[in-house]
Amino acid sequence: MAKAVDSGQAELEQIRRIESEAEPTRKLLASRQAELADLERRTAEQSDRLKLDRSALYDGTIKGAKEAIDLEKKIASLEQEIEALESRQMELLEEIPNIEKQLRPARRQIRDLKAAIQAKRALAQESLNRWKEEHAARLADRPRIAALVPADLLARYDSVRKRTGTPAMSVVQNESACVACGVVLPARTLDRLSQDALTACEQCHRILFLPVPLDV
Ligand SMILES: [Zn+2]
Repeated sequence: MAKAVDSGQAELEQIRRIESEAEPTRKLLASRQAELADLERRTAEQSDRLKLDRSALYDGTIKGAKEAIDLEKKIASLEQEIEALESRQMELLEEIPNIEKQLRPARRQIRDLKAAIQAKRALAQESLNRWKEEHAARLADRPRIAALVPADLLARYDSVRKRTGTPAMSVVQNESACVACGVVLPARTLDRLSQDALTACEQCHRILFLPVPLDV
């Protein structure tokens, strides 16, 4: 059996853990950024209003002292509001970079882990491609090897293979057991084998063969 391909499961697990640990900080950053954007929008709106009110004071549209006093009050309150908005913006402009700094180590770790996963997947793809090439080469070579086998034997092999899947042959281990299914072979089967007769395992139906001793 080939070793299972490492597609970076451990690294993915680590990324998930780091992300979940950093989640509260990430949420805080998002909320502060949203708050800042909202403050900027409101400051711009109120500044436009202030500009209009200030020019109204001097362009002669104001009728009477009461209206002028009311407008001056409105201007003063707008100025106060804008000051408050700007002071909160200043706080956020200091806080946001600090939060980003806290997130930096996690972001760096995740970036490195993702690079490691990519490298592992590229390697896995490479060995898959190599295996496919080898497999194709062996398939292409099969007719040549099959031609060396007597036709009746080959027909028997192919019919067994349809039932059992590949391989359709099994070696006899310790002169007694079928390696494919583990059954202990009866004496008559072993006898037939020793007489070189074509013999199948009675349990898994694979064609049996005896191992050839290496020192012969
Ligand atoms: Zn068997």
